Amino acid sequence: MPTHARASTRWDAAIVGSGPNGLAAALTLARAGRAVKVYEAADTPGGAVRSGKATLAGYVHDLGAAVFPMAVDTPFFRGVPLKEYGLEFIFPEASVAHPLDDGTAAMLWRDPDRTASDLGPDAGRYSTLMRPVLGRWNELVDDLFAPLHLPRHPVSFLSFGLRVCLPAAVLARAVFRTGRARALLAGLAAHSILPLWHPMSAAFAVIMAANGHLPGWPIVRGGAGGLSAALASCLRSLGAEIETGREIKDLQDMEPSRAVFFDTAPEHALRMAGRRLPPSYGRRLQAFRHGPGAFKVDWALSGPIPWKASCCREAATVHLGGSLAEIERSEGAVWRGERPEKPFVLLVQPSLFDASRAPAGRHTAWAYCHVPNGSAADMTGPIEAQVERFAPGFKDLILARSTMGPADLERFDMNCMGGDIAGGANTITQVFGRPVFSANPYAMPAPGFYLCSASTPPGGGVHGLCGYHAARAFLEEG
Ligand SMILES: Cc1cc2nc3c(=O)[nH]c(=O)nc-3n(C[C@H](O)[C@H](O)[C@H](O)COP(=O)(O)OP(=O)(O)OC[C@H]3O[C@@H](n4cnc5c(N)ncnc54)[C@H](O)[C@@H]3O)c2cc1C
Repeated sequence: MPTHARASTRWDAAIVGSGPNGLAAALTLARAGRAVKVYEAADTPGGAVRSGKATLAGYVHDLGAAVFPMAVDTPFFRGVPLKEYGLEFIFPEASVAHPLDDGTAAMLWRDPDRTASDLGPDAGRYSTLMRPVLGRWNELVDDLFAPLHLPRHPVSFLSFGLRVCLPAAVLARAVFRTGRARALLAGLAAHSILPLWHPMSAAFAVIMAANGHLPGWPIVRGGAGGLSAALASCLRSLGAEIETGREIKDLQDMEPSRAVFFDTAPEHALRMAGRRLPPSYGRRLQAFRHGPGAFKVDWALSGPIPWKASCCREAATVHLGGSLAEIERSEGAVWRGERPEKPFVLLVQPSLFDASRAPAGRHTAWAYCHVPNGSAADMTGPIEAQVERFAPGFKDLILARSTMGPADLERFDMNCMGGDIAGGANTITQVFGRPVFSANPYAMPAPGFYLCSASTPPGGGVHGLCGYHAARAFLEEG
């Protein structure tokens, strides 16, 4: 029990930070009847899942995350009735478009058969790669999005592991014969924020592809903030309190509680709770490695992006990086600490599917590329050059732009250390042992203290599972 807790204390748990994981921890506890108070430094709850003004009046931008494949059907979200609190997902027919220099695009449709048949000579190979994964997806979700444990579904888990335990660049070249299919896989692998020679990169690619089919890659009607607003409303309906505009620097800044959950970077948790933790654990947290940073651009546009490949308008998410070899170069450079010359760009065009995002006839777009952690490089030019390459005339549509480099991202959300948007590098040790190797990585070695941010398993992304598993660890301890 945190030492500032008194037997008569009103709160069972205090949560520092209201990102999706903080809110998921709070909701899991509140639904189990616990009294919960959430403290958030920003003026609105949601962490990296917020939307608002970034360019001109009347344009709604997703300030952090924009696309939510993991917020639909994972164990935490499955159990929360967010529709009743105003959440509406929009699922484009295509989860991802990946334009190529020949004016066509490789497409990840929600329909796996359509995806395969679009890949022409690689149709059968795509189906052979994905069908076993999709067939066992519900079992795999249980094992893949959880802390280190003996698999509950060993056959499914082992067959997935054997299929993908190699670098994405190797998998793409070994499985596919065409540049289109290889490029599509490379773009999906780049979500790992790892170089494509890294042994974990293929697993990310296949998980992202599977999510593109089950359930798809949705955006939130009205802006990403609608997801956080729904989580916060649901939480408040259970009697929990959320105090915003309140940065916690020391445990004494909070009302007494029986447990404290840190939806924070490990080093911030250490700053707050370090006095109560064994020095050896503190040293292990200090050794935690953050991943590369991101450089983000939001645009207000006078029209839709004029893609050469018109099918790119069927997807909210567009991957801009060209061939496998190019994406390999770009992500490899970032990992080596170099600024990529032709960055791999993840672009989202929500207003094509959600008219509430911009004035009539106008549009918004959101994009980012990876950069070395803490990089001060201005990537606006290289990012816009990549969009223009596949959509000539794009630059003429720009009415206004707003950019955020790593330092701005960290100001926007203090968990984005050095611009790291994934809560830590996805190295093998940190995928399986995050922030440290432990059967219960959430419980810190002092009674009543838990870490529940994306720096715990299963890591970055909006799934709420770090918070959910941390809360369950607390509830199971009684
Ligand atoms: C630009 C960007 C784009 C992204 N795109 C996507 C995407 O499209 N899809 C996707 O699935 N994921 C995306 N992600 C990743 C995803 O948003 C994160 O992995 C996820 O939000 C992590 O949730 P979290 O609760 O661990 O932390 P966060 O969302 O980072 O929230 C942590 C919260 O804790 C607060 N906090 C921290 N310390 C304190 C303190 N001491 N006192 C008070 N408050 C504190 C912070 O202010 C913040 O609000 C993106 C992230 C970023 C930044």
